[in-house]
Amino acid sequence: MFDLRDLYMQVIVDHNKAPRNFGVLKEYNHDADGYNPLCGDKLHVYVHVNDDEIIEDISFEGEGCAISVASASLMTETLKGKPIADFPDSFERFQHMVTSDINEEPDEEKLGKLAVLAGVREFPSRIKCAVLCWHTLKSAVEDSHEIAKTE
Ligand code: ZN
Repeated sequence: MFDLRDLYMQVIVDHNKAPRNFGVLKEYNHDADGYNPLCGDKLHVYVHVNDDEIIEDISFEGEGCAISVASASLMTETLKGKPIADFPDSFERFQHMVTSDINEEPDEEKLGKLAVLAGVREFPSRIKCAVLCWHTLKSAVEDSHEIAKTE
């Protein structure tokens, strides 16, 4: 049987050890800082949205717990190459998943790899670690020039 909990741990460990899209982009037109005071996670997200409104490239850097880093790694991997117009829906879907009832099956078809982060629901104090990168990207694309905070 497919065990989401095992997969969750494996993916977190893997993405924390070798985060995807880590570092500063050579070319980017939006960026923002994010901070989760509850855990101390700090992220900086860079994104390059091209003339066709596609997320041509996206990266992050920073320091944080395994969940915040793995979540940012998975987010960048998932959104790269997607239309920026899809971002609000993706954000909402992700936020819903990590705050939904533990017995609710994540919509794997729509969430893709992000579904493994549904495991975070078992550790409510870490939910903010998982959503930090999403708040940071939102702040970046809105050019708010404010530090995205989870509090
Ligand atoms: Zn954290």
